[in-house]
Amino acid sequence: MIDLRSDTVTLPSEEMREAMARAVVGDDVYGEDPTVNELERVSAEIIGKEAALFVPTGTMGNQIAILTHTLRGDEIIVDELSHIALYEVGAASMFAGVQLRTIPNLLEGDTVEKLYGAYRESNIHAPRCRLLCLENTFNIGSGTVMPLKDMRLVYKAARGLSLFVHLDGARIFNASIALGCDVKELTENCDSVMFCLSKGLGAPVGSILAGSKEFINAARKYRKAMGGGMRQVGVLAAAGLIALKMAERLSVDHDNARLLAQHLSSVDGLKVDLSRVQTNILLADISGLNMDAGSFVGKLSKAGVKAVPVSSRVARFVTHKEVTKDHIIQASTIIKNLVSHILTP
Ligand SMILES: *Cc1c(COP(=O)(O)O)cnc(C)c1O
Repeated sequence: MIDLRSDTVTLPSEEMREAMARAVVGDDVYGEDPTVNELERVSAEIIGKEAALFVPTGTMGNQIAILTHTLRGDEIIVDELSHIALYEVGAASMFAGVQLRTIPNLLEGDTVEKLYGAYRESNIHAPRCRLLCLENTFNIGSGTVMPLKDMRLVYKAARGLSLFVHLDGARIFNASIALGCDVKELTENCDSVMFCLSKGLGAPVGSILAGSKEFINAARKYRKAMGGGMRQVGVLAAAGLIALKMAERLSVDHDNARLLAQHLSSVDGLKVDLSRVQTNILLADISGLNMDAGSFVGKLSKAGVKAVPVSSRVARFVTHKEVTKDHIIQASTIIKNLVSHILTP
């Protein structure tokens, strides 16, 4: 089985398992876990922020950021297809009590212009608009990258409107590798950033939220309130410390996604926009098959390749460290054969 559903299916390496077994631990709610303290220190340094917080999931990291930046009743501006809008169970309204202003295509094209269009001054009718959330790479955009120049322009514009900017950087290292820049150049254009250790970087669990010292002090308290105060969690942080060294290898995932995209773009019945395959995510439009993406993915799984449907006509394939170039070539053949079987049964 070649599992291309997500980079979350990556398994901890032997090196990680050994480090987890040997980790020196303590009670992290008391701030006494040396391995967690080390992970937070090194993460802050790499990501270019004053302080960092280890959180169980990216979702909790995003939600803590929203809680920390806003007050109940505030409005936050997000892309309508962002992870925060689509896949976090409405948590921003559940916990922070904020209103999501969801903007179509916010993250592509002229983001500044769309930000100005969405922003409104607070008055007797309008809530206080407080936060802009970016997502880089943009998952549902097909893992597309927001270039550095755009990040700079957007951050400047947001600050001009007195908005905070939170970066959902679940895959920010995929963005920096694709752009060939230091991740810090991207993250200097936001007030807070979340990134996942548990995706392409290969840790079994965990994400990092980073920002100013003051922000992280407040965030730490919200993490406790959300039930995320963990005890001897250095056993997980130990794997995270190794994950932080894995950014360079993401270029292999990008090459594999590119290769798969090249194969699939020539298959009749599938549409793949090669210009959008910039990192490790590939979206294939299967409208040409006259079949729901859910059933297509079901058939594909029986043939030996796993993918996920992201809408009724789009299937998503994600490359990661468990899949090699050979797997990609095999997967391409399996997909091609299935498609031709569907078209000429
Ligand atoms: C995976 C992901 C998250 C959330 O991470 P979890 O650890 O699954 O909660 C947030 N944002 C984006 C863009 C993601 O891809």
